[in-house]
Formats: sequence, C-alpha cells, structure tokens
Amino acid sequence: MNKSDIVEIPKDKIITLDMNGKKATASSDFSGRYITNYGTLTITGDGTFEDAESADYRGPVTNNGTLTIENGTFYGNTKNTYAHIWNSKGATATFNGGTYEGAVTMINGYIGSTTYINGGTYINSLYPTIDNSGHMEIRGGEFVNKSCSACNESKYQIEKPWGYTIRSGFHSSDSYLLIDETEGRTIEVTGVQGALSVIGGKADIKSGSFETLPCETHGASSSYYALFVAPEKSEPSVTVSGGDFKTAYRAAARIGMDNGSSDLQSNVRIEGGRFTAPAGVDSISVNAVGGGDATISGGNFSSDVSEYCVPGFEPVRDANGNYVVGSDEPDQPATVPDDDELPPFIPAQPDDDDSVTIVACAAAAVVAALMAVFLILTYRKD
Ligand SMILES: [Zn+2]
Repeated sequence: MNKSDIVEIPKDKIITLDMNGKKATASSDFSGRYITNYGTLTITGDGTFEDAESADYRGPVTNNGTLTIENGTFYGNTKNTYAHIWNSKGATATFNGGTYEGAVTMINGYIGSTTYINGGTYINSLYPTIDNSGHMEIRGGEFVNKSCSACNESKYQIEKPWGYTIRSGFHSSDSYLLIDETEGRTIEVTGVQGALSVIGGKADIKSGSFETLPCETHGASSSYYALFVAPEKSEPSVTVSGGDFKTAYRAAARIGMDNGSSDLQSNVRIEGGRFTAPAGVDSISVNAVGGGDATISGGNFSSDVSEYCVPGFEPVRDANGNYVVGSDEPDQPATVPDDDELPPFIPAQPDDDDSVTIVACAAAAVVAALMAVFLILTYRKD
C-alpha cells in the first residue's frame, strides 16, 4: 500500500474484506492506517497486516462506522505513538479473534465509542494494550503487556512509556468497562506494571484472570498491581464479583492513588473473586488519603481483610489459611454442634418385626448413632 492507496469506505456501504490468507504491507512512504471506515466493514480470511519499511504506519483501520474483525495477524510498530486500531466516537468495533502485536496501544476505544472484544491475542510493551474511554465489553481474549516503568523510561525516548495491560477511564468519566468471560472463552490479562486499571468511570469485573509478573530485567519489585483503581481522571466506581487477581510483589488490588492525596473518591465493591499477594503482603491495599474506599462482602483473600468487610460479613479461615468472606464456602472440617443445639431426641420404638423408624429427621446422623445405642441397650435388656 502506498499512501494514495488508503481506502475510505462510505457510510452506506457494507463490505467484507476476505484476505484469503494474503498480506497487506506498507511502502516506505506510507503514512496512516490502510482503511478509514464509515460504513460496515468485516475483516476475515486470516490475512496479515504489517508495517514493513514505513516509518509512519499506524495500523489497519480507523473506525468511524461498524467494524468486525474475525481473524488475522496485525503487526504494529513503536516508531510513532498512534493506537493501532482507533475506534472513534459513535463507532462500534467487534473483535472476535486475531493476533494484534507491537504498537504502543493495540486498541483504543475513544469517548463515545462501543467496543466488544470476544477473543483474540493482544500483545505490546508500551502504553496500555487496551485503552477504553467509551463503552467496552471484554468477554474473551489474552492480553499481555511487559512494560515496566524502570525499563522503559529512556528506551524509546518517549516520556514514561509504560502502562497497565487494560486501562479504563482515561479520557472520560462516562466510560464503562465490563469484563466477563462468555461461555467457552477465557480472559487472561498479564502485565508487569499492572494488569487492569480503572482511573475513571464505571466498571464491572465478573471473571477472568489478572496477574502481574516480575520484570525480566528488574525482578519482582518493579511489578505492580493486578487491579488498580484510583481517581486519577475522575471518580471510578468498580464492582468486582469474580476473577482471579494475583501479584508477584505488591498487593493484588490497590485502591486509591499510589502516591499523594486526592479530593476525589474511588469506590470499589468486592463481592467475590480471589485476591492473592505474596506472603506477608496485604491482598487489598487501600489509600484513604488518596481517595481510596473499598467494601468487601465476598471473596477469597490471602490476608485478613476484616477492616473492609461490610457489617455482618467476617472472614473465615479456610484449610489453606486464606480468608473467605461471604457466600464462598470455606474449605474447612465440618463442625459438630454443641449438645444444647441438638434437636430433642425422640426415641423410636421397635416394631413387632424388629424394624425401626426414625421419627426425627434433623441431625439424622446423631439420631442414628443414639438409635444404635438405644437398640443395643434394648436388645441386651431383652
Ligand atoms: Zn524493568
């Protein structure tokens, strides 16, 4: 593709681009994205989109209409700071599969956009891999970002080029993020700097796995949080009802600004999920001065979270030493009730044929044991 080859799909057109396994590549003078879509565009056929020698190849599509990508391989570069696929205000993009790799950000859902990610693999190592300021629903996919603030500061001569793997709320307080694995799909989010951050707007996290890994150069101490919620841009409101959050060094979830104070609030309701930090590290860390507020009514935690539990909910230790809150059943031995908690014992009388009938069903095992004693005594007496 030369710059003059850029395709603009008009508003009233419905186009399927079947790549038929072929490759789109850029000439050295190419600048921009290959397609500007105002219509309805579906990309399929397992093609490859790449930048080749172009210093200003930005990505395959600028979406102003309705875009669906079924599959394909999409290579970006870090020679510029444009998001690889830009989903504009009022536009809708759906990603059902594909591999997206190597740009500063792979998908940016801008203010007023709608983005559905149902699958695919998204890998980069600079800014957030997925950046949502609109309405985004993630129902499947693998998301990897190996950026580390200690590594990246001077590497590309871009100031502070690091990011969480998925970020929501940067440009708009009206942003919304849903993360929920649909049937037969998994969501795996890994990062070094961090896995998921919500710094504005609303979010519902229902499932998925979120993990920070040690930096390959700087080790675990340069890794941050699996979940970070702070009022950096507006007041985020997040409900976590499921998901697996695990860290290499710091708290599994950090709520409130990491440094300094804030007059804005970030509210996090944890109703479920598993939060695992290394031994000796708080699983949930709240910076109240930095606008952090958390309430817990469910979940499994690697440290005591009593101080955040809503009234009526207290952590119970399970067999692994974890703290379980709410409806998650603790994994522990069954307890035997005290004598005064037992139902009244009603002795059964042997029938003529020596069969017995248990007339009290409650605490049946206890009743049965007492019945055996009763029968032994009865028969001995006889
Ligand atoms: Zn590093």
